[in-house]
Amino acid sequence: MAYSCKTYELRCNECGKAFGNQPISACDVCLAPLEVHYDLESIRPQVTRASIAAGPFNIWRYKALLPIPDGYEPDLPVGFTPLVRARALGKRVGTDHLYIKNDAVCFPTLSFKDRVVAVALANAQAFGFTTVGCSSTGNLANAVAAQAARLGLKATILVPSDLEPAKILNTLVYGARLIRVEGNYDHVNRLCTQIAEEYPWGFVNVNLRPYYAEGSKTVGYEIAEQLGWRLPDNVVCPMAGGSLIRKIRKAFSELVSLGLVEEKLVRFFGAQATGCSPISQSVKQALDYIEPQRPNTIARSLAIGNPADGPAASKMIRSTGGYAEDVSDVEVIAGIQELAETEGIFTETAGGVTTAVTARLCADGRISPDQTTVSVITGNGLKTTDALSGRYATERSIRPRLADFSTYLNELDQVRGRELVEAGAC
Ligand SMILES: *Cc1c(COP(=O)(O)O)cnc(C)c1O
Ligand SMILES: [Zn+2]
Repeated sequence: MAYSCKTYELRCNECGKAFGNQPISACDVCLAPLEVHYDLESIRPQVTRASIAAGPFNIWRYKALLPIPDGYEPDLPVGFTPLVRARALGKRVGTDHLYIKNDAVCFPTLSFKDRVVAVALANAQAFGFTTVGCSSTGNLANAVAAQAARLGLKATILVPSDLEPAKILNTLVYGARLIRVEGNYDHVNRLCTQIAEEYPWGFVNVNLRPYYAEGSKTVGYEIAEQLGWRLPDNVVCPMAGGSLIRKIRKAFSELVSLGLVEEKLVRFFGAQATGCSPISQSVKQALDYIEPQRPNTIARSLAIGNPADGPAASKMIRSTGGYAEDVSDVEVIAGIQELAETEGIFTETAGGVTTAVTARLCADGRISPDQTTVSVITGNGLKTTDALSGRYATERSIRPRLADFSTYLNELDQVRGRELVEAGAC
């Protein structure tokens, strides 16, 4: 179970030992995580702005910069989601050049996890796995189930037993085997590590993790290209395991090394829910390690109490002059509503976290109004509607008569007027 490749291979982050390409995620010498290392010099001649522009409108336009085995021809149009200027939200939070990277509409399963899974499953096939799986806080389960179905792979997926119903349904519908585990994500993940040692399966975020994680770089490539091959000043990114935020940074530095964008200091800001904030706590206290937490937040997709890439993310954020912030569940709901009301984007709880943190960073002056800031929205609100249950009363219905309509409209206006008076707006 290994393949060779001229342009990339696994290396240890700590001691630099090289491992070729095989389904492993940690160094046998120092136990540090492995990461895909590229020979950028040999890639350079193949990659220009023009060659990328000539590619398909999905993540495969960056294929030369991803760990995709020679001869593998991926064809699922994942990614290339909109980067939209958020004028109304920017005005609300007090910054003039705010953009939303909208992975709430990522294809095929409406979260950024579609990107990582596409890269992981290409490698699962190269290694000869016929069963794939993952431990998941929800979105990864959906993405693995959908893409495994299309590739004809069997999927076994483990999730915490209290996961949102929509995320469970969105896994089962693809025919995946779903196993609900009593405990939180950290318990599920530990179990998956043991299963991966026992069964010949490709777990995308366990033994295939180094390849999986590289898929997140495509968020960074897209941001740079969509800004007209420029880097932003600030990136605000949600953190669960701490992988995405690091890989956006890796993408930017590769683009600089390849001469595709001008070098620039980009500050990275991490976003977590206070009920599960081990990485933001580490940043705030300037620690080089993570103190694990027991998660308790509605932002379940970010609820990883002992994040694998947490220490590295904490160090990276501080090295850029950025910061990490965390917000309460009440602020998460307000963030979901604010993004929907100002920009017409319905995000899940993780996006509420990011939006609320962006607002806080602006209010605290950590992000200045004249800088270009990209807020990364990673998942879709239709998957976490239970977070909003009870917030919007179902109105009474009316008969199909114009008079009824007019009377009712009057009533609604009066209610709205009272609310405004109570809120002190008039
Ligand atoms: C997994 C996930 C993240 C965070 O990803 P990490 O790479 O583990 O930090 C952010 N948002 C959503 C919606 C996710 O599902
Ligand atoms: Zn090592």
